[in-house]
Amino acid sequence: MNNDENTHLKRCKECNRWTDGKSAICAYCGHDHDKVYREEVEKRKLNGDVSVPVLKINESDALWLKIVKKPIQVFQLILYALIGFLIYLSTAFAH
Ligand SMILES: [Zn+2]
Repeated sequence: MNNDENTHLKRCKECNRWTDGKSAICAYCGHDHDKVYREEVEKRKLNGDVSVPVLKINESDALWLKIVKKPIQVFQLILYALIGFLIYLSTAFAH
């Protein structure tokens, strides 16, 4: 049972050496392992959450358009919450 040690190691994409997985920076070349992940998170923040395509209300929209869009948006959110709940139920019963 030597696996415990290996779980704390990860291979550096830059120099291909095994380095301490708990450290974000490679001990050999200084490559930042989490940089790609962090950049992806930043991108998602900038673009908004693309996984839930809820109708967007723009500041430039006319007032009547905002009034029309609001209930649709609320309905969509309720629908997604329901779908999420159903997925949760189906996975809960599958086990
Ligand atoms: Zn490295």
